[in-house]
Formats: sequence, structure tokens, C-alpha cells
Amino acid sequence: MENIHQRCIVCGEERTAGIAIWDQFICQPCEQEMVKTDVNDEKYPFFIHQMRQIWLKKNA
Ligand SMILES: [Zn+2]
Repeated sequence: MENIHQRCIVCGEERTAGIAIWDQFICQPCEQEMVKTDVNDEKYPFFIHQMRQIWLKKNA
């Protein structure tokens, strides 16, 4: 089986493991980072921003 590299929308790295949200891809490390990131964490707004990009594309 061929591993398909996809570019993560959060970190920009090309990886094989991760989740696809519509036509966007979030790698596993980033997904886990998002899951454990607290709302008060300084990284949280960044993740939300990245997720908004997906929403905006989807609803465009
Ligand atoms: Zn990533």
C-alpha cells in the first residue's frame, strides 16, 4: 500500500498519519496537540484560526 503524504494545514508539514476534515488535512501530532490544548493556552487562538480557514473555505 502506498502512503499518501498530505500537507497539514496547521504545521505545514507533509505527513501520512492524521485526520482529514473535508478536503483539508491535520496531521496526527497537531490533532493531538489541539485535543490537549487548553482554551487559555496561547496556542489555542492559532488552532481556532486554522480551523476557521477550513470553515471559510467550506462555506465559500
Ligand atoms: Zn501538523
